[in-house]
Amino acid sequence: MKIKVSFQPLQRSIAVLLCFLLSPLSAPTFADDNNSSFDEPVGKITGLVSIATRNRTNSNIRDVVRAKDNLSTNTSGRMRIELHDGSILSVGSESELKIVKHNPATGETIGTVPRLGRAETRQAIEAAERAFPAWRKKTAKERAAIMRHWFDLMMANQEDLAKLMTTEQGKPLTESKGEVAYAASFLEWFGEEAKRIYGDTIPSHQADKRIVVTKEPIGVVACITPWNFPLAMITRKAGPAIAAGCTVVLKPASQTPFSALALAELAERAGVPNGVFNVITGAASEIGGELTSNPIVRKLSFTGSTETGKLLMAQCASTVKKLSLELGGNAPFIVFDDADLDAAVEGAITSKYRNTGQTCVCANRLLVQDAVYDAFATKLADAVKKLKPANGLEPGATQGPLIDDRAVEKVESHISDATSKGATVLVGGKRHALGGRFFEPTVLTNVTPAMAIAREETFGPVAPLFHFKSEADAIALANDTEFGLASYFYGRDIGRIWRVAEALEYGIVGINTGLISTEVAPFGGVKESGIGREGSKYGIEEFLEIKYLCIGGI
Ligand code: NAP
Repeated sequence: MKIKVSFQPLQRSIAVLLCFLLSPLSAPTFADDNNSSFDEPVGKITGLVSIATRNRTNSNIRDVVRAKDNLSTNTSGRMRIELHDGSILSVGSESELKIVKHNPATGETIGTVPRLGRAETRQAIEAAERAFPAWRKKTAKERAAIMRHWFDLMMANQEDLAKLMTTEQGKPLTESKGEVAYAASFLEWFGEEAKRIYGDTIPSHQADKRIVVTKEPIGVVACITPWNFPLAMITRKAGPAIAAGCTVVLKPASQTPFSALALAELAERAGVPNGVFNVITGAASEIGGELTSNPIVRKLSFTGSTETGKLLMAQCASTVKKLSLELGGNAPFIVFDDADLDAAVEGAITSKYRNTGQTCVCANRLLVQDAVYDAFATKLADAVKKLKPANGLEPGATQGPLIDDRAVEKVESHISDATSKGATVLVGGKRHALGGRFFEPTVLTNVTPAMAIAREETFGPVAPLFHFKSEADAIALANDTEFGLASYFYGRDIGRIWRVAEALEYGIVGINTGLISTEVAPFGGVKESGIGREGSKYGIEEFLEIKYLCIGGI
């Protein structure tokens, strides 16, 4: 596979890295700013991507080169890799080592990453532990300067990171660019926020004592992230953790490892020291098993499905780790009869179809008051017909493919379950003519709580429209789920806005808007949608411990 990418001259070296990751089988072609193409072979690198990324647990690109030189196979067919510090890794044969990653839009192989396990995870944790004392000792201002540089590098490479993301995840390029900026914003925000980690003095209970409260970084933090936001879900955790003085071991989703590795490369270029941000790819249960049981790890921050979150929570019990969980949702999107219907349709398109319906805050159930049901359904259907499913790299694409075949099957099963129980397909309803993992943006009417789509996250481009009569009905329907992440409603009555906002059992309520994500506001859920908050001044607290100093003899 040949990949042609445009890069700024100063970004040549990251171009080499990204193409290294993107094209394991042949030398990529580069183009510079003036579009004068030239070949810059990076060598035949089959298998070496694994080695490169393996050593990324040490967060140092120079180690990659050394590991490459020090690779050999012993008599039992196992590979020996000598690391920069002289230690030897003995790992399985090359074919056992790799996770092959495909482009969801084309099915083409993008590249491979190493399938690492417990031993390497332990090494990464130990690297993070070694790095912790020096990193926490830096002043907040020193850490903030590095974070700011990291942010600047992300923004300088926004286009390239976006192409990489679209290639591995499928979302349209405009969305990828938006995500790069959103992801970078957490580095900038939390770098600044670290300067404001204030303690407290408390009026004492005794005349000769003083009470002081300080806040300290918690220590080594494990992060596990999903594929639907390959960069933002990482920086929303690693940003505050690193800004607070913690060190991080990250396991990105196997569907989207390359964005994470590019982020690690930029971290190094920004001056994040070795061992502060460690990325480890591979077998989820092995890596997760070590991250959750190793006593060096003080905190787990996880984003993903509720099912996996519960498992990890149980695994963390043996070492009583602090936990942040950002889990699944089942967002209601309520349209009251006094809503501005055009605004509600615009909000529904944003909330429901962004990332082809694969966000945890996607409207999963559209609850529409009887008086405006037909009008809203017609307007929504008209807007949905204008969406353009296509390879995310194609200009004008608004709907990329779903992430994998299982995702397509789930969407299909929700639609067939709903239609078998009386729902009607107003638009779409089947796999797209483009084939592969493309699915037609769909609107279903006459959906009821008896259907699977009412209870489970569809994670696809399907808007199911439910009827409701009164405000009380809408609230009861909206809260009738074990999830409690995002919710939305449209209406103009100020009294109702307050009543409904207060009655919704959700961590996030979007009122007359379908887009709620920003680094300055707290993101997170209640009930089985999670524990803790990310982003905002609250997000950094998740990575801090409170220490009470009681000073006597005064
Ligand atoms: P997932 O299957 O739970 O996977 C998420 C991450 O957990 C991946 O890195 C995965 O690794 C890892 N993992 C899976 N099993 C594991 C185990 N036994 N031990 C350790 N790690 C394990 O979820 P997903 O399908 O990728 O993501 C979609 C879900 O995430 C949806 O439910 C969505 O709502 C939720 N989400 C929530 C938020 C939020 O902020 N609340 C944001 C985004 C997504 P592999 O990739 O290697 O399997």
